[in-house]
Amino acid sequence: MGRLGMRSKTIIIIGLLLCSFWFGGTAWADRVDQRYQKVAKRYHELYRNTPFRDKAHNWINTINQFEWIYNKYPRHARAPQSLLNIGNLYRSLHKWNKKQIYLDRSSIFFRKLTNEYPQSSLADNGQYLLAENYELFKKDKDLAFLEYQKLIDQYPNTSSARKAREKIKTLQPPPKDLQIAPKVEEALAPVDLSKARYGGLSVAENQKKNSPSLVSSVDYWSTSDWSRMVINVKEGVRYKYQGLGASGTKGRRIYVDIFNSYLPKKFKHRIAANDGLIKQARVAQFDKKTVRVVLDMASVKKIKVFHLKLRHQYKIIIDILGQSALPDLKVAKGKSLKSKTNPSGKKIAIQKNLKTAQMVSLSKALGLKVKRIIIDPGHGGRDPGALAFGLMEKDIALKMGLLLKQIIEKKHPEMEVLMTRSKDEYLSLDARTAFANKTRGDLFISIHLNASHREKVKGIETYFLNLTSDNYALSVAAKENQSSLKSISELQNILNDLMTNSKIQESSELAQMIQKATYSAVKQSKQYKTRDLGVKQAPFFVLLGAQMPSILIESGFITNRKENRLLRTAKYQRVIAEGIYRGIRQYMN
Ligand SMILES: [Zn+2]
Repeated sequence: MGRLGMRSKTIIIIGLLLCSFWFGGTAWADRVDQRYQKVAKRYHELYRNTPFRDKAHNWINTINQFEWIYNKYPRHARAPQSLLNIGNLYRSLHKWNKKQIYLDRSSIFFRKLTNEYPQSSLADNGQYLLAENYELFKKDKDLAFLEYQKLIDQYPNTSSARKAREKIKTLQPPPKDLQIAPKVEEALAPVDLSKARYGGLSVAENQKKNSPSLVSSVDYWSTSDWSRMVINVKEGVRYKYQGLGASGTKGRRIYVDIFNSYLPKKFKHRIAANDGLIKQARVAQFDKKTVRVVLDMASVKKIKVFHLKLRHQYKIIIDILGQSALPDLKVAKGKSLKSKTNPSGKKIAIQKNLKTAQMVSLSKALGLKVKRIIIDPGHGGRDPGALAFGLMEKDIALKMGLLLKQIIEKKHPEMEVLMTRSKDEYLSLDARTAFANKTRGDLFISIHLNASHREKVKGIETYFLNLTSDNYALSVAAKENQSSLKSISELQNILNDLMTNSKIQESSELAQMIQKATYSAVKQSKQYKTRDLGVKQAPFFVLLGAQMPSILIESGFITNRKENRLLRTAKYQRVIAEGIYRGIRQYMN
């Protein structure tokens, strides 16, 4: 009885709601239309030759009122019309005062129209105007081509499409890697970053800066389970970053704002990755003094943002770990296959996890754990590394690296050996780790020579990535990182957090074996003498973020006259390479 009573009550309430919606619905429809007509009158006034037109605030007011209609009544027929009008108004403002921001806003609203109201009779119109914005004002023929093409594909039978076909005849098709049109101007759309975290310079340090810093380039490496983006700035900057979850049509994004900075005039504003975790990146001058980087990401498990101060450069690094980079055992066993968000994306990740789990056990059973070794000869090109007695670290490291490759390939034809560099060329530290991850190496061996102020110091030492309180190890890392001791200790503070996924235990074992075998190889040769300086740990940037066991060997002191003489001979280089190989072999068994 009680239940029945409840039920009838519910029906009545729903009935009432429906009625009020119905009556209210028609009522607001009229009100909105009246309001729209009023704003539209002002709109037409702006395009007539009157004093009303000459006041900027009349334009902005009109824009605001159209925007209000769109925000308040997005389902009303006047909403798409309002978007089109806003796009036109911003475009006119841009023509008037040449400000980029107005052009970008114009494009934002034209795109909003086609994205949110694809069925509207105005959508093709908006798409045409958007393409025209790129062609005529942005002077970006590539993007213009893509947007015209999109119009032809989506609205083939419209008069806009006919015009677009004529336009496209005069344009060149853009290169393949730009075939996805990234929405550059969206980097400029307002977004709530109130939960951002801050990094880099302090507020006071930032204020002391006299002029903004140049953001010279943005590099990225992306695989399906690991991605790294490096923002290169000329000097220290203050920055903030915040991740935003998926909402509406937008996927997960991360925003990085770099304060007191600017982009060069000819900066490539778009990066269409789409081959891994980073789907797309947009870099834009957000306002006069802020550069904004927006990353669109695929399914992500963990994001780390940190900076590194090198001697001539400041790097803001965004490391992204994908779902499959950290196999979740629960998921891998197939216990919790249900997911609330993004079901299709999650499914792929789960399948990958299962696959990895199976592969690991299988390869272990077959003893095929190490298939691909990455050899990284330190320095190169404009970076000679340590110098002494006319010898350059970069040259010896390369020779040893090539010898090591030769030895491994000869003894293990089934294995693949890849070099980060096989000639005298410059390669940044982040590019080396990225190469190892991208090629999915199973081991990473970085070869270096040591240097000391004291000529007497000699010996071999092997490092793996970890925190250290040893000042000597820190100074070696500072030297190899091309950064100051202060910057290294700053890095230590965030390292803890960064290393959760690095293979510390395996790397430590690999380091032990390589150190021991290399020292023994020299000792066994009976012709040479060196010193066993042991295994050490330090925050080497080149090892940071590596997804495989990785070590860095300092194979001798270039500053020790005797060792220097040995290091330059092919014979001794071979002894060292042979030693490293034996260490690797022992690790593999
Ligand atoms: Zn070095």
